[in-house]
Amino acid sequence: MPETVAIGDINEIIMDVQAGNRRPTVELVTALGIRITELLKPIRMILTCPSCSGRHIDKGLFAIKPHHTHACQHCGLTWRPAVVNTVGVQFLPGFKDES
Ligand SMILES: [Zn+2]
Ligand SMILES: [Zn+2]
Repeated sequence: MPETVAIGDINEIIMDVQAGNRRPTVELVTALGIRITELLKPIRMILTCPSCSGRHIDKGLFAIKPHHTHACQHCGLTWRPAVVNTVGVQFLPGFKDES
């Protein structure tokens, strides 16, 4: 039994179980754990203030603390860009080095 589950196997494992195929419980629990962690991860996106169009970049604690309401560092407006948690970033993942 593998100790770790490759990321690519998660869908396969969940679909297998949904189809009624038996899978070791540890595999299913691991797959669900990874899936839940993915869902809770805030979405990184380019955020601009709807009022002053200033770029909103979450730094320090806000970069790691999931939040959905953002306060503009330029004009003070607070807004909620999406229902889910978001993090304002300078560059989208994959386009520049992540810090
Ligand atoms: Zn923010
Ligand atoms: Zn603003």
